[in-house]
Amino acid sequence: MSKWPIGVFTSIDAGLGVKLEVAKELGIPTIQMHAPHRETRTAENATKFIAKLNELGITLTCVFGGFEGESYADIPTVEKTVGLVPKATRAGRLQEMKEISDFTKLLGCSVVGLHIGFVPHDTSSADYQEVVAVTRELCDHAKANGQAVHLETGQESADNLVQFIEDTKRNNLFINFDPANMILYGTGEPIDALKKVGRYVRSVHCKDATWSNEPGKSWGCEVPLGKGQVGMENYLKTLLEIGYTGPLTIEREIPQEPERQKSEIGHASQLLADLRAKLL
Ligand code: MG
Repeated sequence: MSKWPIGVFTSIDAGLGVKLEVAKELGIPTIQMHAPHRETRTAENATKFIAKLNELGITLTCVFGGFEGESYADIPTVEKTVGLVPKATRAGRLQEMKEISDFTKLLGCSVVGLHIGFVPHDTSSADYQEVVAVTRELCDHAKANGQAVHLETGQESADNLVQFIEDTKRNNLFINFDPANMILYGTGEPIDALKKVGRYVRSVHCKDATWSNEPGKSWGCEVPLGKGQVGMENYLKTLLEIGYTGPLTIEREIPQEPERQKSEIGHASQLLADLRAKLL
């Protein structure tokens, strides 16, 4: 694969990404994909999906897990509902994430990603140790499928995320860095965070946002790439500094406005191609 191929986050029947056809129309060569619903995750569908990717000439680089009952309505709701952290759904979601890893293997893809949720901050608490334990179990399952597990950034500060990865002690646990999430959740200045976690970054999202006036309490605002406070040129320069030359996967989560979503992803793709030409 060439350095910094453009990518886009896609969905089949779950998640907020664009349809595969949009990637094709925009000439985007790689995708990450939100895992489809359980009933869609069959061997037969995997075979069909691989054929479609081949026909479109698109490479799948990561499958993201997501679960029924997750809500990103506001930050406190994310804390209660998202990922493997919420206790009531933890065991069921771990099982489902293993199934998503198995389906991802059928797709011939070696990376699964997820928002793990708000990891408890007290590292000596039983709850923290339990979250470490389920993450280990997921990593071990993925490893047997020849896969790495990438944690999406946003809900943790850079320091807390590094601590969590080091406590988990698994060599297939890495980071999908999303600079806009650091701003949206108010967990840190994204470029500083990227420098701190750089050695674990194995995939990235290209997304932009503006800070909330009460960071960490209410959402910042997701905006088109290049219009927010990430600073795209500085972001790409920093990716180069940490040695990251993998896919630049555009994420723009406004599926309620499909035409605008497509047009903004087209602009984002052009912006990234221009910066790539300048920096590489
Ligand atoms: Mg993201």
